[in-house]
Amino acid sequence: MTGCVFCGAPANSKEHVIPQWLSKGPREDIPGIYQKPVVDLDGTILRDVRHRFGDITVKCVCTTCNNGWMNDLEEGVRPFLLPLILGTDEFAVILDRKMQSDLAAWAMKTIMMFSFTNLKEYHGVIPAADFTYLYRYRRLSTRRMIARVFHMPVRAHGTDEEVLFEWHLRKSVNPKGIVGFLRLGNFGIQVCSMRLPGDKQLNKFKEFPNTLPLWPPTERWVWPPEEKCEEGHIDALIYGGHTSPFGTSKKR
Ligand SMILES: [Zn+2]
Repeated sequence: MTGCVFCGAPANSKEHVIPQWLSKGPREDIPGIYQKPVVDLDGTILRDVRHRFGDITVKCVCTTCNNGWMNDLEEGVRPFLLPLILGTDEFAVILDRKMQSDLAAWAMKTIMMFSFTNLKEYHGVIPAADFTYLYRYRRLSTRRMIARVFHMPVRAHGTDEEVLFEWHLRKSVNPKGIVGFLRLGNFGIQVCSMRLPGDKQLNKFKEFPNTLPLWPPTERWVWPPEEKCEEGHIDALIYGGHTSPFGTSKKR
């Protein structure tokens, strides 16, 4: 048995990549969670999976982590995750700093678990230091990690192409690190983690329409934003080359 990716204890627990309450279809008008084919970092299809996301489990964590802090993180975002996914004014939600922090950590944890649904040779894409950091602090690093959220159009709803849940992970070259993306209905999250020398820090994201900052947290904001992002903009963001949407600077 391999070790828990977070604490090193035997990885004796099955973790649902997508919380079961969400994958079963949390409301009548949400048909449940479907997955696109598993692709590698260049977009090549590795495995075609057409079954429901909710069935997918990974065995890379221990019972203590899974039933302890990981479950706490899950329960922490649960009350406001659905309004974010629905993205309608009817279910507007206000996120304070604590909620933003928990949501960013939850997104990172979820992307981490997704990375273990890939073939084995891709399991090492997220550096061990990132798992350790999340385990130790239950939040992201304010120096070398950054996240933002997008109000997204839901594409191809109710067809064979139906996608409510989508995830992407790619390597960033300059600065070196990973860029993860989660799409949950009308809600998208981009999480970046860079390997930077101790005296350097990440700058804020460059401008992008209809996004809100998630990490580092800011004063409270209201979801959803008035307008949605354009599909083309999102595709460019997810698939567009290896240019980072931010720079680095000397730590003050
Ligand atoms: Zn553990």
